Amino acid sequence: MDDCIFCKIASGEIPSNKAYEDDKVLVFHDIAPAAPTHLLAIPKAHIQSAEEVDERNAELIGHLFAVMAKLSKDLKLDSGFRIVTNIGQDGGQTVGHLHFHLLAGRQLAWPPG
Ligand code: 5GP
Ligand code: ZN
Repeated sequence: MDDCIFCKIASGEIPSNKAYEDDKVLVFHDIAPAAPTHLLAIPKAHIQSAEEVDERNAELIGHLFAVMAKLSKDLKLDSGFRIVTNIGQDGGQTVGHLHFHLLAGRQLAWPPG
């Protein structure tokens, strides 16, 4: 998608601090971290939000979760972490390309505000 910032990060047009990359997915550090570890995990293909997950991309999203689980072990996030995705206006989504926040390194509050 031409005007999508995360498509541009996925293609390398906009630089990012990468934690993991393969041909299908990218994990990079959030530019405004909300926790000591704050990664964004995205499919390289443009998907608007988790609302658009269906049988055609379920394998891709499963792969993305497997990558995040492996990263959590590599990064030794032994005391826990959170994976969250925001959807639409009330969900607080500001970038319209599906991304999962992986947050760790401090006690995270629940429920969210
Ligand atoms: P959302 O609010 O849509 O759930 O999350 C978007 C996230 O993307 C925010 O945490 C924001 O800090 C991050 N973000 C926005 N623009 C950029 C960017 O250009 N580079 C990086 N690394 N993160 C970004
Ligand atoms: Zn996109």
